[in-house]
Amino acid sequence: MASYDFDLFVIGGGSGGVRSARISATHGARVGLAEDRYMGGTCVNVGCVPKKLMVYAAHFAHDVEDAAGFGWTVDGARHDWATLIANKDTEIARLNGIYRRLLDGAGVTIFDARARLADAHTIEMGETRVTAERILVATGGWPVIPEDHPGHQHGITSNEVFHLPRLPERVLIVGGGYIAVEFAGILHGLGSKVTQIYRGPLFLRGFDNDLRSCLAMEMVKGGIDLRFDCNVARVDRSGDTLLAELTDEDVLEVDCVLYAVGRRPNTRNLGLEDAGVAMDKHGAVLVNADFQSSVPHIYALGDVTDRINLTPVATAEGHALADTLFGGRPRRVGYENIPTAVFSTPPCGTVGLTEAEARARFGAVDVYKSDFKAMKHTLSGRDERTMMKLVVDRNTDRVLGAHMVGPDAGEIMQGVAVALNCGATKADFDRTIGIHPTAAEELVTMRTPMPDPDVDEEGLAAD
Ligand code: FAD
Ligand code: NDP
Repeated sequence: MASYDFDLFVIGGGSGGVRSARISATHGARVGLAEDRYMGGTCVNVGCVPKKLMVYAAHFAHDVEDAAGFGWTVDGARHDWATLIANKDTEIARLNGIYRRLLDGAGVTIFDARARLADAHTIEMGETRVTAERILVATGGWPVIPEDHPGHQHGITSNEVFHLPRLPERVLIVGGGYIAVEFAGILHGLGSKVTQIYRGPLFLRGFDNDLRSCLAMEMVKGGIDLRFDCNVARVDRSGDTLLAELTDEDVLEVDCVLYAVGRRPNTRNLGLEDAGVAMDKHGAVLVNADFQSSVPHIYALGDVTDRINLTPVATAEGHALADTLFGGRPRRVGYENIPTAVFSTPPCGTVGLTEAEARARFGAVDVYKSDFKAMKHTLSGRDERTMMKLVVDRNTDRVLGAHMVGPDAGEIMQGVAVALNCGATKADFDRTIGIHPTAAEELVTMRTPMPDPDVDEEGLAAD
């Protein structure tokens, strides 16, 4: 019988890799983990955590403005980018240490090195070679810059935006996904003049149409120059300034072009092809429901599989794999009703089916919608609306989807996701007493469905 150095070797110390390594070791497995860049991966270092800290930073701009209507005088408020970046970096260093200590404490052997497969059971890290019975590829993703955009080399990605030496005065953001929308709000809130362009007719493709259009309206009202059906034709440098020629024929003078046009799985030069691991055309590792690749003892999970690229999904997958392999509790991850938030300004939260998906799948659906000014803004004077929406299966009364744009949308939708996972009906929402006065109580007080829209088959498949 072959004897290996490790029962499990994990390549990548991000959300999925750390969780699966730690839990596997806790279950008694001999585990090694290689991380070549930063412990904690994308989320901790250049993703969720620094992003959310910057969302908080940007939001103070609104708080300061809103305070006046409540009697406050806030003189001389100004923001210092260097302080934010330094404090954010200190917090990340603390988290890096926590992740390392968690792994150490569980007995995981850490290699601060880039790893690749020498063969299907051998991992190579420079001069060091180790063997493992099972290997987990949890190498995440990396931002792309479209090389067909002339002058793309003048642009930066989300990796760099967290380390800019100063706040750019004028920014062009390319893309209409999570990152583009979130950074439009962050940089605008901190004081940049922001133009965001998206190549299609409405950004956040895949989200509910009402959520998408409501957010677009709020962002424009908030002062962001938002342009749809627009892309970059070319970017040229002129001294310290970038000249961005857009497909709407406008030429913008900006200090920074931020490309937020998606991420690619990190599988280059990993030795996966030689080991026989099948990947799709973008380099995502193809896996079955138990995270096995085409080589059954080589597993993959998280962003490197390019399915639902969210931290809680990667950690859930890592935990399920560890329990299955070493915990005597084989289990799979359920991908239904995964809630998600876009930390835009204002934020969005969503769970379940969009209205269009629900109509396409279930036919008869009732839609309950509420659009209102939050109580806070009666005194602050801010012209911002909150939108909430429930999509209900008319035949069973089950709530199929919930969507919100407005303050605390992510916090609110987390609870609603529990209800949807329990199969809550609209009647369950109706018999739930509200918490007053909150915005969230609107979710349990919407009584009248919207009139059925006059939609044809094409319209039903709209989002
Ligand atoms: P990662 O966290 O990317 O970890 C992979 C690790 O593998 C990295 O540390 C990398 O250095 C390492 N690695 C790669 N190759 C090798 C190698 N050959 N050898 C050794 N190590 C290697 N998700 C949310 O749920 N909420 C959010 O608010 C959110 N915000 C985000 C904001 C931004 C700007 C970005 C970019 C992403 C955000 N995400 C968010 C997505 C989230 O960060 C990812 O889904 C999550 O980090 C995926 O975890 P992972 O373990 O699959 O990969
Ligand atoms: P997304 O895939 O979400 O969005 C990419 C955007 O770029 C889309 O609008 C896409 O348009 C557009 N695009 C793609 N290619 C081009 C091109 N060549 N030219 C112009 N536009 C282009 O990627 P992000 O980079 O925003 O984020 C990556 C992932 O990270 C997210 O999908 C999400 O899973 C995760 N994330 C999660 C967050 C959260 O939970 N809050 C926050 C940030 C990231 P089109 O729609 O037309 O294809």
